[in-house]
Amino acid sequence: MHILVLGAGVIGTTTAWFLQKQGHQVTVVDRQSGAGLETSYANGGQISVSHAEPWANPSAPLKVLKWLFQSDAPLLFRPRLDPAQWRWALAFLAECTSAKAAHNIRQMVNLGTYSRSQLQTLRAELGLDYDQLEKGILHFYTNPEEFDGALEPTRIMQDLGCDRQIIDANRAVELEPALAPIKDRIAGATYTSEDESGDARKFTQALAKRCEEAGVEFRYGTDILGFDQAGDRILGVQTLREGHHETLRADSYVLCLGSYSAILAQQLGITLNIYPAKGYSITVPVKNEEAAFKVSLTDDEYKLVYSRLGDRLRVAGTAELSGYSRKLNLTRCRAIVRRTAEIMPEAGDWDRAEFWTGLRPATPSNVPYIGKSHFANLYLNTGHGTLGWTHSCGSAAALADIVGGKKPEVDFTFAGM
Ligand SMILES: Cc1cc2nc3c(=O)[nH]c(=O)nc-3n(C[C@H](O)[C@H](O)[C@H](O)COP(=O)(O)OP(=O)(O)OC[C@H]3O[C@@H](n4cnc5c(N)ncnc54)[C@H](O)[C@@H]3O)c2cc1C
Repeated sequence: MHILVLGAGVIGTTTAWFLQKQGHQVTVVDRQSGAGLETSYANGGQISVSHAEPWANPSAPLKVLKWLFQSDAPLLFRPRLDPAQWRWALAFLAECTSAKAAHNIRQMVNLGTYSRSQLQTLRAELGLDYDQLEKGILHFYTNPEEFDGALEPTRIMQDLGCDRQIIDANRAVELEPALAPIKDRIAGATYTSEDESGDARKFTQALAKRCEEAGVEFRYGTDILGFDQAGDRILGVQTLREGHHETLRADSYVLCLGSYSAILAQQLGITLNIYPAKGYSITVPVKNEEAAFKVSLTDDEYKLVYSRLGDRLRVAGTAELSGYSRKLNLTRCRAIVRRTAEIMPEAGDWDRAEFWTGLRPATPSNVPYIGKSHFANLYLNTGHGTLGWTHSCGSAAALADIVGGKKPEVDFTFAGM
């Protein structure tokens, strides 16, 4: 079967890999000049099954209200005259009950555990190198109330088989000595030894190369404009490349356009509740090896994640629900540099920080759309929000199974099934 994968981010590229492995002829279409150049470009780097607490939880509404008036808040909702934004916000509020949060944690842990093992198998099979580290993820709390609030979600994750351990400040510093300067401020921490980190862009580009070697065609520099449809079938995808319009045809299609999936799907009458949640990252050269972290970290109070990528430090976080603009807000960039330098002053060459923004394709529940649409030959693999890197290999493997008529190996609520 010939399949057109729309989008060459980490989700589209992994989807192409798993589909070609099942014997399909695959073409990937993307407007950029290469793979992994939008949201998968400079994310937090964490492969974090343990990061399964959804943004929507019982304590979220009050926090979001408080943060409305704080310009460097970790999650900022900037109200606009945009029905898609308000629809998203209302659905987010509906997800904030304990029962919904527990259900969403289950979805995220199941998909995450499966995905991490698919990534490990793929890495062993292909020998990919993307600055990966298998040193676990240490989540530290400087606010005692937040630490207490994390105990129940941690227990739920443990019940689901996630090896997230509760530890104290001494153990945290033993595991990651770079945290020594703030040891007295750590109220508590958790550590998940099986979690990992690595550069999502390097991975995506290395995998795209392997896909090409395996016969997958990548059509870069190609804007996807819309669809030709008849009844319950997609007949083609209308594209624009170097000023030329062309309709690309295949037997089936997979939508992996990140934050733009909702806009394209709307043309087909499919409502995907995906809204861009703009995030920031800084990438800084290591200055002092002794003072720099190696274990991937999550700083709960500031909602920042830290990954060591070779001789670089990557720190990412914050979420602004303010539309599709990727304009850099320097206040936010500087807040990330300030916090990281405060924790480990000697770790990085802070004056050489590179700033980046990306649009997380966020759903109100944090759970992605993976599976069938109401078109017989259109599949969805999109809306991965905060955890697209973590969930990429599992989502792609499961989607390839669904396309092939097989039952995926993971307990997850797939779309249209
Ligand atoms: C600050 C930040 C930190 C993050 N940290 C982590 C982390 O630590 N761990 C983790 O698991 N996840 C993390 N994420 C989330 C993760 O990066 C995303 O979920 C993931 O990159 C989404 O991948 P994607 O392939 O769906 O989207 P993208 O990478 O954006 O890919 C979509 C592709 O579609 C193409 N496209 C879109 N529209 C069109 C069109 N009309 N025509 C042609 N092509 C089009 C784009 O060019 C792009 O290449 C983070 C995200 C951000 C922003």
